[in-house]
Amino acid sequence: MRQVELRGPRDIKVAEAADPTPSVGEVLVEAKATALCGTDIHIYAGDTPVSYPRVPGHEATGVVREVGEGVDAFAPGDHVVFNPNLNCWSCERCILGKENLCESIQLLGREVDGTMSQLLTMPQTHTFRIPDDMAFGLGALIQPLSTAVHAQSLVDIKPSESAVVLGLGGTGLMHVQLSKLAGAYPVIAVGRSPWKLELADKFGADIIISARDKDPVAEVRRAAGGDGANVVIEAVGSPETMHQALAMTKPGGRMLGFGITPLPWDGIQLLQLYLNQLTMMFSRATTRANFFRTVNLVTSGQIDLAPLLTREYDMADAAEAFRATEEEQSQVLRVVIRH
Ligand SMILES: [Zn+2]
Ligand SMILES: [Zn+2]
Repeated sequence: MRQVELRGPRDIKVAEAADPTPSVGEVLVEAKATALCGTDIHIYAGDTPVSYPRVPGHEATGVVREVGEGVDAFAPGDHVVFNPNLNCWSCERCILGKENLCESIQLLGREVDGTMSQLLTMPQTHTFRIPDDMAFGLGALIQPLSTAVHAQSLVDIKPSESAVVLGLGGTGLMHVQLSKLAGAYPVIAVGRSPWKLELADKFGADIIISARDKDPVAEVRRAAGGDGANVVIEAVGSPETMHQALAMTKPGGRMLGFGITPLPWDGIQLLQLYLNQLTMMFSRATTRANFFRTVNLVTSGQIDLAPLLTREYDMADAAEAFRATEEEQSQVLRVVIRH
């Protein structure tokens, strides 16, 4: 089979490898599409260390070709999507239903080889059926959506609460749709690229604010009634926007850190957190239950992923797909590689 290999920072090659065989409890899948996200780009650029060569990718779909011993939930021909955070199911966090925080968690494409190959094996516990008529490229966006669904389950927006989504990348735009679905009003979308603000509008945001030409904190506070919003979702991942998100949160409100940054968060005013009784929360990956809910949200048509898929590349052009995703951030949401 062919696979994509990361052989060092920004060094992508397509190479031949031996076909894998499924172990007990695993399915062998013909992988069809992998979407790229910020996590992949951090690995690609060398910011996140991995051992080389590493097969990248964790947002993927495919068709089951063969099932290993003990697999009862899948049959050859099933179309599937994967939860790529491999956990042990036996540590305390796994037992308590927080398997996204498993003590020995391994992400495909980071600690172990990922999905950018023609064949791969997956535990059936991390495999989910999708409809046969769902495009594989679109199905690959179910995994990032599941991380947003998990985050939403933590922040738990109540109908009529005001909600801000700060940052309109792929997952930010998913949060716009999920906040509407939860009954938030108004949903305030804050972004920089005009075309992404337009998409937020299409996805039902009630108020659109461009952070390019206005002070987003002042604009959000004004739009949300003067003292901020009940819920603010930070979907950028920078200390500056985390500060903005806190400043947009109404006294008694909740700020959800969804964006990821390795930078320290200096300058937090603890007295302000106390005086305003703010709740800060953070969300990592997803759980099996929230992945299952996500598949249902998409197959029932409640979430529209199609406008988030910007471009598709063939596996032979994987190097160009990575380059474009890193360098043309303002022009792409999700890039997908077809296997
Ligand atoms: Zn991802
Ligand atoms: Zn565990």
